[in-house]
Amino acid sequence: MKIYDISMAIAPDMQVYKNRTENKPKMQVNRDFGSSNAYESALAMHMHTGTHMDAPLHMIEGGKTIDQTDLSKVVTWCKVLDLTSVNDYITKSDLQNKQIEPGDFVLLKTRNSLQDEFDSDYVYLEKSGAQFLADLGIIGVGIDSLGIERAQPNHETHIALLGNDIPILEGLRLAHIDEGRYFLIAAPLSIAGAEAAPVRALLIDENPMA
Ligand SMILES: [Zn+2]
Repeated sequence: MKIYDISMAIAPDMQVYKNRTENKPKMQVNRDFGSSNAYESALAMHMHTGTHMDAPLHMIEGGKTIDQTDLSKVVTWCKVLDLTSVNDYITKSDLQNKQIEPGDFVLLKTRNSLQDEFDSDYVYLEKSGAQFLADLGIIGVGIDSLGIERAQPNHETHIALLGNDIPILEGLRLAHIDEGRYFLIAAPLSIAGAEAAPVRALLIDENPMA
């Protein structure tokens, strides 16, 4: 069994959305061995920093919160789709020939995975692609950008997905993953009432529960 880590490490200098200073994690050592006999630290971070999941509440007033995530949707088989040849955004036509089926969890591997700096021209899922996936009846979608959409004042991509109770993983790292079928483990932290939460996302090349 091989385990692939498809998450970002959380660190104060990591890439964050639009390089916003307020989105950088803050880590603090509260006790260390110089002053104590134990080591303890604290972390303050934006819910959409690093590899994380968006719940419906992120875009839909009164929507489900992250602690209400159906874990069977995020501990499941998935399909990694190689879309590294797409330059700007992923449309319905980029996805139509990818043999996506109802009930699939799809991970969109793009050129975003090939760089570690925040790129304001990151590849995203355009609304026709999001609507196509929602209409097909996928159970979840992930992408290797810190936003699944870009420059959409009405957030059509997020709403097409979250409005159909389809969880979104953002900030994945997929450079080392080939297109194919994997077992996904991507449970978000159970933060009561939150709209999103960090995820340690893993892929496994076989079903660990078989
Ligand atoms: Zn997010």
